[in-house]
Amino acid sequence: MKLSKLARTLKPSATLAITAKAKELRSKGVDIIGFGAGEPDFDTPENIKLAAKESIDSGFTKYTAAGGIPELKEAIRNRILTDYKIEYKNNEILIGSGAKHVLYNLFNVLVDKGDEVLIPAPYWVSYPEQVKISGGTPIILNTTQECGFKITKEQIKSKCTEKTKILVLNYPSNPTGSTYTKEELLEIAAVAKEKNLIVLSDEIYDKIIYSGEQHVSFPQLSQDAKDRTILVNGVSKTYSMTGWRIGYAAGNSDVISAMNNLSGQSTSNPTSISQKAAIEAFSGSQQKVSEMLIEFRTRKDFISSFLNNIKGVKCYIPMGAFYVFPDISYYFGKKFKGKTISNSIELTDFLLNEGKVAVVPGIEFGSDNHIRISYATSMKDIIEGTKRIKETLEKL
Ligand SMILES: *Cc1c(COP(=O)(O)O)cnc(C)c1O
Repeated sequence: MKLSKLARTLKPSATLAITAKAKELRSKGVDIIGFGAGEPDFDTPENIKLAAKESIDSGFTKYTAAGGIPELKEAIRNRILTDYKIEYKNNEILIGSGAKHVLYNLFNVLVDKGDEVLIPAPYWVSYPEQVKISGGTPIILNTTQECGFKITKEQIKSKCTEKTKILVLNYPSNPTGSTYTKEELLEIAAVAKEKNLIVLSDEIYDKIIYSGEQHVSFPQLSQDAKDRTILVNGVSKTYSMTGWRIGYAAGNSDVISAMNNLSGQSTSNPTSISQKAAIEAFSGSQQKVSEMLIEFRTRKDFISSFLNNIKGVKCYIPMGAFYVFPDISYYFGKKFKGKTISNSIELTDFLLNEGKVAVVPGIEFGSDNHIRISYATSMKDIIEGTKRIKETLEKL
């Protein structure tokens, strides 16, 4: 059958692909340490699971409003108000089947063919693909490790054209773990105002912060920033609920209403049971979130210093999220069994086949000099996996 033009240009998700490859090797009995998956290894907290069970037992198992139930919208509004002192109304909140789905809907209701969307690199793998699906053109803003993987106002300005419509922000960042200070965000907000850009602020790692400073949410910066921002977040990372599929957008009511229509014609509501569970996640005790953060911090400290002690590896020390994104380009041009390793994909294959350790090539995130390692896995696996990385690289 002949596929559509769109289908023929779609890339499979690289992170899902590497996880599948590792799983396949494991099923053949090969002992693989997986650093590919972008999901916390902790179990979903008990109080949240209980809320889901109660929802099943009480028969809350039917269609709901396509954009989510009012009680969950209220729980989200209260969470945002408590954490960031930002006020939204119910008609400014849309709940979708995960933040990924929410972002997909957002690009589709905002982007026309030819519209340009600014995406800082290294980026989360799905932004450029989703923009392309919506008919838009991704415009990549490259950053460097020396500058903490941060974009500057001059850079945004220099890439703006008549067609530029949206600036995507993701902080703390997947894959780099970099984040912005309030002063830096204020500068970005000033350019966004000057160039009249819509800001899509993906703050899904807002609770996983190591810097000691509070996360600053983009709509918190000023009334203007709030008016031009669609805030995206969800329960996957903060509450270890990746499989439950609940994400949300908060912002301009026209945009929210258009997304509501799109959901109504495609997925309908996110799972009713998950919505009830998410109410408990946002409104219940936040104790587990702090406990997970303590554990993530221990792993981050270990893994970043271990990697920085491997010859030629330069690892930025993350300020948030649960990934490290070391520069491994020192090893490009080196040979193993007569075969030269020349890019992040070849290095990743080498680590998987020779070292039995799965990481994601940086090229998928827009930076070929790096690999991404997720430390959302046990300390035992982190110790063994990083040892394997070191020993394998030393063979080159
Ligand atoms: C994990 C992730 C998402 C998607 O989260 P879901 O709610 O599980 O769909 C979106 N953005 C970034 C940057 C992520 O890392």
